[in-house]
Amino acid sequence: MEKISIIVPCYNEESALPLFYEELKKNLNDFPSEISFEILFVNDGSKDNTLNVIKDLVKTDNEIKYISFSRNFGKESAIYAGLENATGNYVTIMDADLQDPPSLLKDMYKAVTEEKYDAVGTRRVNRKGEPIIRSFFAKLFYKLINKMTSFEMVDGARDYVFMKRQVVDAILSLKEYNRYSKGLFSFVGFDVKWIEYKNVQRIAGTTKWSFWKLTKYALEGITAFSTAPLLISSAVGLLFCLISFLMILVIIIKTLIFEDPTSGWPSLVCIIFMVSGIQMFSLGIIGQYLSKTYLEIKKRPLYFIKDTNIEK
Ligand code: UDP
Ligand code: MG
Repeated sequence: MEKISIIVPCYNEESALPLFYEELKKNLNDFPSEISFEILFVNDGSKDNTLNVIKDLVKTDNEIKYISFSRNFGKESAIYAGLENATGNYVTIMDADLQDPPSLLKDMYKAVTEEKYDAVGTRRVNRKGEPIIRSFFAKLFYKLINKMTSFEMVDGARDYVFMKRQVVDAILSLKEYNRYSKGLFSFVGFDVKWIEYKNVQRIAGTTKWSFWKLTKYALEGITAFSTAPLLISSAVGLLFCLISFLMILVIIIKTLIFEDPTSGWPSLVCIIFMVSGIQMFSLGIIGQYLSKTYLEIKKRPLYFIKDTNIEK
């Protein structure tokens, strides 16, 4: 029997959840009756009434499973917990705010079963309703990261993916602590069909992503999948050595031939500032990788479960 697991990470989604559930159910009813479903809500330490909303839904629907974290661990951890606990032979991940349209599920299922793809990814083709500055930096990020990695990260890709068991197991076998799901999904490969859709605004509640959080997330993506920044800082270091060597030559020759010892306090200060700035910057880059390594070797669990209705 075929079973589709739908993982829904939730953080402060009390207002969106009932609307989401209703819309999802509507779409699931269109599937043939021999396919069963498992809706797996992962409550990521919500501070509002989300858990009670989920528990009320559980009472009416035995397809619903939930996991509730001991605190907020972030969407990446929620996704991981969902993947670990999903039992379906197909798994999909969906936001609770209806920005990932459940109406696409049918096409996704068809692509995997009939068109023989291993997985389906979704991407937004526009960023309507998003602040211009945010779109600008998002574009820049994808340009950068695609220059730095050996596989393609698709611009506008969402976490909304539909995967065969094989792909799920591949992603689960990547045990890293610093998880960047979009990257992991691209990294494992397989035959992926990309479905495009126009950006939808969130149905209720507010976004959990501030500009600062997104910037940190972008840096996470780069350091998790590329060591190019380390190479760049080495290259800049080398370049500056060369420049200084040339400058030394010029000064020696100038002094010997033209007997013109330069008094150069301002230029000296500028150079010191610039070079020490670059040194600090490079040190910072090394520090980033070191800190990631530090977190990685501790092997801390990605989440703690406080409450669940899944029996092991
Ligand atoms: N989310 C989560 N933990 C967090 C932040 C967000 O589980 O710490 C969930 C959130 O409930 C939603 C999804 O991740 O289902 C996407 O979040 P959001 O809509 O705020 O992000 P955006 O769509 O604005 O990028
Ligand atoms: Mg959203």
